[in-house]
Amino acid sequence: GMATVAEDVIAAVGTAPGEAGIAVIRVSGPGCVQVVEQIFRGRQSLKDAPSHRMVYGAVVDPDTAEVLDEVLVVRMQAPRSYTGEDVVEIHTHGGSAVVGRVLNAVVRAGARPAEPGEFTKRAFLNGRLDLSQAEAVIDLIRSKTDAARRLALEQLKGGLSARVKQMREILLDVMAQIEVTIDYPEHDVEDVTIEQIREAVDQVREQIDELLASSRVGRLVREGVRTAIVGRPNVGKSSLLNALAGRERAIVTAIPGTTRDVVDEWIHVRGVAFQILDTAGIRTTEDEVERIGVDRSLKWVEEADLVLCVLDGSSPLEKEDLELLERIKDRPFLLVVNKIDLPQRLTGDGRLEELPQHRIVRVSARTGDGVQELADRMARVVLGGEGVSASSCMVTNMRHMALLKEAREDLDAAERAVSEGWTVDVAAVDLRAAWEHLGDILGERAGEELLNRIFSQFCLGK
Ligand code: GDP
Ligand code: ZN
Repeated sequence: GMATVAEDVIAAVGTAPGEAGIAVIRVSGPGCVQVVEQIFRGRQSLKDAPSHRMVYGAVVDPDTAEVLDEVLVVRMQAPRSYTGEDVVEIHTHGGSAVVGRVLNAVVRAGARPAEPGEFTKRAFLNGRLDLSQAEAVIDLIRSKTDAARRLALEQLKGGLSARVKQMREILLDVMAQIEVTIDYPEHDVEDVTIEQIREAVDQVREQIDELLASSRVGRLVREGVRTAIVGRPNVGKSSLLNALAGRERAIVTAIPGTTRDVVDEWIHVRGVAFQILDTAGIRTTEDEVERIGVDRSLKWVEEADLVLCVLDGSSPLEKEDLELLERIKDRPFLLVVNKIDLPQRLTGDGRLEELPQHRIVRVSARTGDGVQELADRMARVVLGGEGVSASSCMVTNMRHMALLKEAREDLDAAERAVSEGWTVDVAAVDLRAAWEHLGDILGERAGEELLNRIFSQFCLGK
């Protein structure tokens, strides 16, 4: 083989496997230009080509000089690259035989195959991204809806990092103030400092609470909203599911209790994914099979992020409807009055009037009337008023949530220390712990183990 010119040059295919117009092989690390130079025959040598400019040429086998493909190659000079190192990208034709041969040639010329996520890991180690941004790269790639994409991109751009840095700044200021107090006790500044500690603790706690509150919505946007459709048999649950999904799927029948198992359907509303579960008709029954379905529906009511409770507008409220209303009233729910195409006979001795009216939506699953309005309401119940705006910063990552909670506990401890009359150096220990926990979101102290755990979730070539 060839002499190894590179210190630690990694290479991987950055595009998805299979046939495609093009594929991109990414090569990164000091010396990667020399590695690729050995197998590239172009009008211009790579090292003389301007950075960030495509160069046309061919890739050849390093031993036989056989032409493997016609390619476009671009060199990105450090630090202006994804990894912060010198990077070369080879754009080949997108076929598996082509890609396999070209990657093999790159490796024989001195690169080694990259591990999953290794490019992003290098970007982190080189300070191009902090850890929360690197984590956002995975989220961005995995996002299935537009809202999830927006949240991930906001985090990648450093939205969360900026908030975290701001909180750490506040803590650092007060920690410095405490140092002064400890170093110059004769100045008797203790009282001033205690006030400052309280203020800093309050400020940061407020921001943490705000971020933690956002995490509920953040998780729903990222993972989807589990939505249960409940109601007694024949009110039109399956028909409603079909109307929301815009196609036939659930079994619709005129015999009560036919939907025995759960049917689910994913729908996207305003960029948010709803996983809608059509549950068996909830009612008391002697039939064993149906009863199992009913038990499960009640469990779903407890576990769902959103409950759609369906009533039949063409008939009066029944005892079963009232029981159901009782069960869902403390859950996030919408009351769907179905069959508005029929003469309306829905009465319930004022029970409906007691409910918050903005929770009631009138629809006809048969004609489609009101179904769009229902979908909009569903999005609003989950997201709150304005939805997910481009600038919203939401915590979606469990690791970040756990660290925010730990930092919050440290701050509680710091406040207790000053309230109980301890000297300020006691509070200083807790403030530092909070500062460090927040720093862990950015990966300030991240060890090899944590980094491996995070980056191993990446796909190859990212
Ligand atoms: P489920 O048991 O609650 O799932 O109810 P289905 O969706 O199976 O519907 C029961 C019956 O009500 C079927 O005959 C449907 O065609 C009918 N139905 C459902 N929605 C409507 C509606 O909006 N208007 C009318 N007129 N009939 C409906
Ligand atoms: Zn049904």
